[in-house]
Amino acid sequence: MGQKLSCRKQHEKNGLFSAVANGELEMVEAILQKDPTVLEHLTAHSLLSPLHLAASNGRIEMLSMLLEHNIKVDILNHHKQTPLMLAVMHGKTGCVEKLIQAGANILMFDSLRRRTCLHYAAYYGHVGCLKAILSAAHSTPVADSWGFERFVNIRDRNGATPLHLAARQRQTECLRSLLDSGALVCASTGGYGYPGSTPLHMAARGGSVECVRMLLARGADRLQLDSSGRIPFSVALKNKRKACAALLNPSSAPLLVWPSPLKFISELNQEAKALLEKALLEANMEREKTLLRKADMPPSPLHSGSKDDDIASDSEVFKSDSDMELCSICFEQGCTIEVRPCGHQMCAHCTIALCCHKKPDPATACAAGPLCPFCRGTILQLILAKIKTSSDTEEVESSPTKPRRSRKSNFSEGSSSFKGLSAMGSFGRNAGCNSGKVGTEK
Ligand SMILES: [Zn+2]
Ligand SMILES: [Zn+2]
Repeated sequence: MGQKLSCRKQHEKNGLFSAVANGELEMVEAILQKDPTVLEHLTAHSLLSPLHLAASNGRIEMLSMLLEHNIKVDILNHHKQTPLMLAVMHGKTGCVEKLIQAGANILMFDSLRRRTCLHYAAYYGHVGCLKAILSAAHSTPVADSWGFERFVNIRDRNGATPLHLAARQRQTECLRSLLDSGALVCASTGGYGYPGSTPLHMAARGGSVECVRMLLARGADRLQLDSSGRIPFSVALKNKRKACAALLNPSSAPLLVWPSPLKFISELNQEAKALLEKALLEANMEREKTLLRKADMPPSPLHSGSKDDDIASDSEVFKSDSDMELCSICFEQGCTIEVRPCGHQMCAHCTIALCCHKKPDPATACAAGPLCPFCRGTILQLILAKIKTSSDTEEVESSPTKPRRSRKSNFSEGSSSFKGLSAMGSFGRNAGCNSGKVGTEK
């Protein structure tokens, strides 16, 4: 008799769990009316609550309804995972937002590896969830008690930050988002002065060229040693990541690093920043092609990948439909960047080359940045160059030394030569979006 009762009870519980997971609102409401205590039930093995099930299955309405019943939003399962963590793990951004609104704590640690929801987002590569958490970290008590940057660089039991996990799992979008939010590119899993793995070691193991490229462009150190005394290059070789190894080889030419120490770079507006970042990426991909060719590797598929195509198409906004002046340094690209206060203009590629090669030296903390290549004047600000139409002749005076050339005439030559830049140090030819020659080489 007793056994029969507990059997029926178990049957009811299972009914509730499957109704929650399937989003059957009416069924769950009916069960709750009969017995509100069923909400305290947990599944047999993983100890999942109905809230966990709703969150991990992306049932937003179910989640809202359950939350109205006064249940603990941070209820734990047998791995001390919150419903928020499970929603993040399964990429259910709507549920993540709902749970955060309902007061879910983003600073909880599971008992598996002592990871937070931010680790989960980075590891599983759900950038929507990652952004929702980061935005909450700006406003919730976490920002006051921990500080935003400390939260972004939070470590799990093995010392891994979310950036480490994104690099290891080849989660490019999350990697980029974390870097933009102040994740430390040279963070070590060692801690307290002990050597450990950096995100670059992790990316070398994961084998994503895109992650390696992004970390190097943010100043990751190719010579940092892990706890076994290996540089990222050795890690890539050991894991047979040949393309990554070509970029990580300390004897190969380094990629350009985003010139963040320059004051006017940190003050760029969004559009100018996007333009220069794209120029840096293109220059680095061009260098990368050379490195891969030397290492006898075919160019990485990312050269023709969809993401890079997206970036390329963005640039058309800046370049199309205009009589843009031709850059008088490289004679290849249109002038898209204007130097303030002197008003001289050049293309984004020449600007980024100038800034990367005349970066202030962090060792001396000397703030001597690059000068305008035309008038040797100090650069206070970089802005998007105004696109001139033929009726705009009064604007011409603001850029006295620029040749009156239309870029259209020799624009199609694209990457054929890059002699003009040799004085500034080479950053390779840019066979970026406009040459139409990318990816045809074997
Ligand atoms: Zn140029
Ligand atoms: Zn000038």
